[in-house]
Amino acid sequence: MWRSRAVLAAFASLSLTFGAAQVADAAGAAAAASRGVGLPPVVSHVPTEENVVFITVDDGWVHDPAVARTLVERRIPVSLFLLPGATSYDTRYFTDLAAQGRVSVENHTVNHPDLTTLDAAGKDAEVCGAGEQLAATFGREPKLLRPPYGAVNDEVRLAAKACGVKALITWTYDFTTWSETPATPRLRAGDIVLLHFTPTLGADLQRALDAAKAAGLRPAALMPHLKSAGLVP
Ligand SMILES: [Zn+2]
Repeated sequence: MWRSRAVLAAFASLSLTFGAAQVADAAGAAAAASRGVGLPPVVSHVPTEENVVFITVDDGWVHDPAVARTLVERRIPVSLFLLPGATSYDTRYFTDLAAQGRVSVENHTVNHPDLTTLDAAGKDAEVCGAGEQLAATFGREPKLLRPPYGAVNDEVRLAAKACGVKALITWTYDFTTWSETPATPRLRAGDIVLLHFTPTLGADLQRALDAAKAAGLRPAALMPHLKSAGLVP
């Protein structure tokens, strides 16, 4: 086991820079994340022995009924990092999903800023503010934060912690079709897939599910695996 302070500090800084997952030793990374600096970890991949991937969908602007049907009927576990403003014109789309599907609603700030550019009060307003709005709508306080653009530093982690965030979740691969459809990567156990509520979500989700199947992986809920990896208490 990693006992030396120096080694722990090295892992903490590695996990800060690259995400805990890219650190070779999973146990060391988990230990560093939980004991290193007392801040919630930044996670781009979850160390796991299980054949699982994690599907995450961001923002919430486009509400395709076919996507909701797929998620509900196929019982696909997903984490939704929602902007309160993107859900508010059709809140029912998401409250139905949360009620009927295997969906966890998580924090993505109020206005989607680069949190590293804001002062402490600004970070607090964005993260705590979104958490409060989502809790009021969905009846559960988000425990995970996806920092917009994946932009994080220690001050962002500190602000997130003060708002009750247990982990900051970035991603391993973005499957979103932006100007073009990205090449499909070979997924590995513990990878975090990023999707967005865009007009192509149905197709992007299907590519992600096909890639998972091709790699012998199944979608799983994020929080239980963060806990079993020791990343979240
Ligand atoms: Zn976003």
